[in-house]
Amino acid sequence: MELLKQRIREEGHVLGDKVLKVDSFLNHQIDPVLMMEIGDEFARRFAEAGVTKILTIESSGIAAALTTALKLNVKMVFARKKKSALMNEEAYVTKVHSFTKNETNEVTVLKKFLGAGEKVLIIDDFLANGEAAAGLAYLVEQAGSEVVGIGIVIEKAFQDGGRRLREKGFKVESLARIAAFSDGKVQFVEESVKA
Ligand code: 5GP
Repeated sequence: MELLKQRIREEGHVLGDKVLKVDSFLNHQIDPVLMMEIGDEFARRFAEAGVTKILTIESSGIAAALTTALKLNVKMVFARKKKSALMNEEAYVTKVHSFTKNETNEVTVLKKFLGAGEKVLIIDDFLANGEAAAGLAYLVEQAGSEVVGIGIVIEKAFQDGGRRLREKGFKVESLARIAAFSDGKVQFVEESVKA
């Protein structure tokens, strides 16, 4: 997605050799116009998947998941990382190790919002080692539903998550794929131009 790559080039900051900071449009401040474009693009890529529900994880996946849900006309639910006193109902739970925070969270979705027989599209902001997406896929499995796709805004293709998820058979679509960070600059994976 050229517009997204342009924003990453212009506004992204590389931290160390593995982390990209894009807090001016995705991870802190959110650009709603760009998010609508992202939702349109995910909806286009998963148009044939028969999606009935979108699942993401708080907080940075929510904006892209919401615009995609709006476009596909389905509900969106986000998994919570912290237990809330309000969540005193039956829930699906799994553990997810956070790449950026280096901590493990119990990730929870109330059963009433993730039923059986759904065709679930998982959306997240970044893909690194694939822990978050795999954890969400496990929640879907617990619910007796099917993951019909995984949509990622920014995939760091030099980390292992994309390969692991694709090897498991998931259809993973990433809107920008990063091959490497070199000298503080982002290098994208060259995509073959589709007719
Ligand atoms: P994974 O679970 O695939 O290892 O990492 C994905 C999760 O970690 C995403 O939900 C995202 O919040 C966070 N993350 C991973 N890498 C980056 C990064 O380079 N920049 C930002 N801002 N978040 C990242």
